Amino acid sequence: METILSLKNLDKKYGAVHAVNNLSFDIQKGNVYGILGPNGSGKSTTLGIILNVVNRTSGEFSWFDGKLSTHEALKKVGAIIERPNFYPYMTAVQNLKLICTIKGISSEKIDEKLKTVNLYDRRDSKFKTFSLGMKQRLAIASALLNDPEILILDEPTNGLDPQGIHEIRQIIQKIASTGTTILLASHLLDEVEKVCSHVVVIRKGIKLYSGRVDEMTTSNGLFELKVEENEANL
Ligand code: ADP
Ligand code: MG
Repeated sequence: METILSLKNLDKKYGAVHAVNNLSFDIQKGNVYGILGPNGSGKSTTLGIILNVVNRTSGEFSWFDGKLSTHEALKKVGAIIERPNFYPYMTAVQNLKLICTIKGISSEKIDEKLKTVNLYDRRDSKFKTFSLGMKQRLAIASALLNDPEILILDEPTNGLDPQGIHEIRQIIQKIASTGTTILLASHLLDEVEKVCSHVVVIRKGIKLYSGRVDEMTTSNGLFELKVEENEANL
């Protein structure tokens, strides 16, 4: 099986804050991975490091069994790690065309990607008329334009209503079913349980568990995590 991404002893300190602490895990092709942990546990920092937007303090990571440089590998990655900015007075299609032009990729697949995210019927609507869920789905379409090997999403359902959350989760499952590997950061255990086959559980930058979601047990660390999540939801 091809290893899409491998992290070895990755470490990141922001001054006194040890955001990522000796983190190692592998991502195999075709699976849906969650990075699960409460707010501040180092999920976004980890994604930032592998996407080359955050400098690591130490450790290594390699893409595609080390066959590609990070620069080359990132051409095969689709990622949404912040709310992307689209042009409000341009339509969905116009916004995606512009992204294709800027990235130097073909615009042939725009309609296909809009169908994937259930926005084909709104292709000619201005972005400013979109709900938050639709905006997030357009962002996912934009991240798929280069037919990525792996799609990386940082808390893609944050701020959405239950219907919007359900739709995004279904779309992630649909994308995964076509063979695209997925890496999803989330602070929600139920989201990871619903969407992911594999999980890396982190807390304060330290890995508590990695493996199959259905083999995750309430060992000490995970139990604490569950308690914290329940408290946060009160
Ligand atoms: P998560 O995405 O799991 O919520 P983050 O990776 O955003 O966690 O943050 C991990 C820790 O690193 C937190 O304590 C956060 O305050 C800190 N942190 C994140 N980004 C920065 C930064 N740019 N400068 C200083 N501290 C940061
Ligand atoms: Mg985060």
